[in-house]
Amino acid sequence: RPVVAVVGRPNVGKSSLVNRVLGRREAVVEDVPGVTRDRVAYDAEWSGRRFTVVDTGGWEVDATGIHLRVAEQAEVAVELADVVVFVVDATVGATDTDEQVVRLLRRSGKPVVLAANKVDNQAQEAEAAMLWSLGLGQPWPVSALHGRGSGDVLDAVLAVLPERSSVIGAYPRGGPRRVALLGRPNVGKSSLLNKLAGTERVVVDNVAGTTRDPVDELIELGGKTWRFVDTAGIRRRVHQTRGADFYASLRTQAALEKAEVAVVLIDVSESIAEQDIRVIQQVVDSGRALVVGYNKWDMMDEERQYYLEREIERELVQITWAPRVNISATTGRAVHKLVPALETALDSWDRRIPTGRLNAFLGEVVAGHPHPVRSGKQPRILFATQASTRPPKFVIFASGFIEAGYRRFLERRLREQFGFEGSPIEISVRVRE
Ligand code: GDP
Repeated sequence: RPVVAVVGRPNVGKSSLVNRVLGRREAVVEDVPGVTRDRVAYDAEWSGRRFTVVDTGGWEVDATGIHLRVAEQAEVAVELADVVVFVVDATVGATDTDEQVVRLLRRSGKPVVLAANKVDNQAQEAEAAMLWSLGLGQPWPVSALHGRGSGDVLDAVLAVLPERSSVIGAYPRGGPRRVALLGRPNVGKSSLLNKLAGTERVVVDNVAGTTRDPVDELIELGGKTWRFVDTAGIRRRVHQTRGADFYASLRTQAALEKAEVAVVLIDVSESIAEQDIRVIQQVVDSGRALVVGYNKWDMMDEERQYYLEREIERELVQITWAPRVNISATTGRAVHKLVPALETALDSWDRRIPTGRLNAFLGEVVAGHPHPVRSGKQPRILFATQASTRPPKFVIFASGFIEAGYRRFLERRLREQFGFEGSPIEISVRVRE
């Protein structure tokens, strides 16, 4: 589904416009920046076309209340979008910040729809017309507050919206497997990429439809070609500004959208940090396969390893299923072990358990350990099926409510039986009366 990002300076009315587009009035109409912080992507529909709207109004302020740079916000949004709606406050006119964003939008080559907001009546339309000077084509006058003109903006968006997203789902099946190399700054991502690319042949190519500089790198490893996605973000020394964490997490998100499997690097010379856990959580939430690379192993000693193992037990219990490789990006230690780990993870991710086998196994498990009786009733497990792969998702049909503890028990047994090393799995329960 194609992605439309709404960008602009704080308080120009981005979130109000998004609400208009979504056809609702709830949430965010106050002039309080950052109020939509937690929810930024929405599914929308207009004239029968479906797309995703990214509301960068939610990105204005980071968790500590610091205002983020508009240009940076726009840069990430543009990377993530197929079409950009650039919102300018017509009552203020174009500011220096607006001009800065315009340059960035031009460079991106992505289609831009210019929305001149706060044009609440016809008398103000002249103000909107002044924005022709931005050189982004026709300014579309809107009043996000009153709804005036928002349909025209949407029509303009649809006119340039591609059928298929070039940001998401741009890769045909059967091509090289796609890997995201992730981790907090300085864990050794670019060192590892260089090591992998350097020792073997490197092909740089542009994914059709993307406008950024080489986004992906094709690297031959273990006799196969792998596509490392979004390597530009790894190689480029992104200067650290306040709020950089937040953009790092958006970039991680963007890379995950394109990837099938993630290698998360952890720097073993330091304690496992909140940021490491957050990256891993993002991978799990995205449903992608996961390999964990413990990097800088050349710096390991006995004492540090003792503490590292304790930290892993404490902090990373939720991903005991992920294959682990202890590597050194600089010396090349055990780097060749990444390939079998990636293959294992992807095999699990793609795996389908035949319904017969699944139910035979489940029957045994349930017979040996039935669901506890609650209020005189015992829900029965009727039937299970694997609804999908990539990652494996299971649906269990039951005759009554299944407790969370029992679900976890079933998930544990499912993993014990079938492995799924390197892949998250999902189980949902449907109650059939
Ligand atoms: P990135 O920010 O994740 O891309 O990290 P870099 O690849 O730029 O590495 C950050 C720093 O860690 C650099 O000074 C690297 O030389 C160093 N480094 C990376 N991998 C290793 C490793 O395996 N061992 C050691 N000792 N240092 C490493």
